[in-house]
Amino acid sequence: MTSRDLAVVGVVAAGRARWLSPHGYLPPVLRVTHFIDGRFQELADANTPAAGLPITNPARAEVIGGVAAGDAATVDAAVAAARRALPSWRSTAPAERAAVLRRLAALIERDIEPLARAESENAGKPITLAREVEVPRAAHNFRFFADAAERFDFEEHLEDAGSNSRSRVVRSAAGVAGCISPWNLPLYLFTWKIAPALAAGCTVVAKPSEVTPVTAWMLCALAQEAGLPSGVLNVVHGRGDVVGAAIVRHPEIPVLSFTGSTAVGEWIAREAAPHFKKVALEMGGKNAAVILADADLPRHMDEIARSCFRNQGQICLCTSRLLVHESRRDELIDGLVQRARALRVGDPLEASTELGSLVGEAHQAKVMAAIDQARAGGATVHCGGGKIDPSRLPTACAHGCFVAPTVLSGLGAHSPTNREEVFGPVVTVQSFATEAQAIELANDSSYGLAASVWTEDAAAAARIANQLEVGIVWTNCWMVRDLRTPFGGAKRSGLGREGGEEALRHFTEPKSMTIRR
Ligand code: NAD
Repeated sequence: MTSRDLAVVGVVAAGRARWLSPHGYLPPVLRVTHFIDGRFQELADANTPAAGLPITNPARAEVIGGVAAGDAATVDAAVAAARRALPSWRSTAPAERAAVLRRLAALIERDIEPLARAESENAGKPITLAREVEVPRAAHNFRFFADAAERFDFEEHLEDAGSNSRSRVVRSAAGVAGCISPWNLPLYLFTWKIAPALAAGCTVVAKPSEVTPVTAWMLCALAQEAGLPSGVLNVVHGRGDVVGAAIVRHPEIPVLSFTGSTAVGEWIAREAAPHFKKVALEMGGKNAAVILADADLPRHMDEIARSCFRNQGQICLCTSRLLVHESRRDELIDGLVQRARALRVGDPLEASTELGSLVGEAHQAKVMAAIDQARAGGATVHCGGGKIDPSRLPTACAHGCFVAPTVLSGLGAHSPTNREEVFGPVVTVQSFATEAQAIELANDSSYGLAASVWTEDAAAAARIANQLEVGIVWTNCWMVRDLRTPFGGAKRSGLGREGGEEALRHFTEPKSMTIRR
């Protein structure tokens, strides 16, 4: 089959009917294409097979298709379409924009099953997680920002008797927004960016991760069906250092929202600064769970374990450092090990699977290298510590990128394992004697995304939460999200905040107009 044929298959496959193949898998020849100006298209690379990138199913170690790899010219075309669509979308009443976003939310809900299957196949994650959490949350993102846009003060009137003046503050869409997202929660995080941008009246040029591009591509067909005007949402696929960099550098994109690694975020901050672009960066983490002497471990152990191993530890909010009062250390380790061993590992497409595959071979190698480094540094390995034995896996998944949930102890606070993000099912345990030590250990990190505190003492929880240098703190729970609260990290975890009004403010530019009465 030539690349031209592949392109045609891709365009046809973009029709929803192709996702619903009776066997439930993605089409046999999957070609994920750009979506520009309301059309699925390959643009410059249509005749160059080498310009495409493989799409894999990491749980089966199979190539399941290809994704178009755009370049700066593709980004130019997308930005031109977004600029043409901007005046009309920006001046559309917020309630009308909200209506389109609500239709899109309903279509995502209608197609939960194919979207969840695609997410599971492309990312190796348990389908139950995609079906019950991630895809519903993508729909919720659109509904939430539809409601938020209707409540947002796009225009405010202020009277000042002292200066006898009247001011009008207008917040209008900042322009074409560049949205760049990672592979770990592909549709969930992609929509978490584009929903507020669209609700605010921006038009969008977005780039999903080249590792997990499928559901963003499927979303484009739903956006079309929902009646989103052509050019309002444009999706360019391809490598980060090519397409992502072209978005970051594009002179007609004044506002950026990025979620991904701190290394790339740092590069984006440097690149965007001389152009005074508005930038929101959501980056890496090394999140601590602080477990006090009075914590109700029997009650909370399941949730603590979930915070460590959910999505194979590939959630930026996952706990990676467990800091436990010395009197509860053994109990914590026993409880964690027991739960880690009990996790049902298997084909991510099986509803009963609780632990799936990592996202790909390169990432599996990185996680394995971190475990080896911990071992070499003298860590005690309480469970896991390697790839999952293929005999525990279904035959189809025997070569998949599975890593056993791993609990380590015996490493100092300054060991690389306790300082660098692993982003896999790997956690360390350190103990403390006093509350002050716990806070010091928790804050002894260049990251500052999230933390959790586990105690029955509400005053201690509040005291500790106030002193943690992070953007988000949970007490006796994890990843409970009220979307109105600001989301983001401190230190090297983030710049700016997403969520609720913060996001709408990010994607709008205020103008104050004052007249003397
Ligand atoms: P990554 O930084 O490698 O890639 C993220 C996105 O940026 C991808 O779409 C990639 O193609 C693109 N990119 C890469 N180089 C680029 C460049 N030079 N210019 C512009 N774009 C570029 O991250 P990843 O491996 O996809 O995701 C994992 C990371 O994301 C982890 O560090 C994790 O902590 C972080 N993350 C953070 C949050 C958060 O909310 N703070 C949420 C999820 C993931």
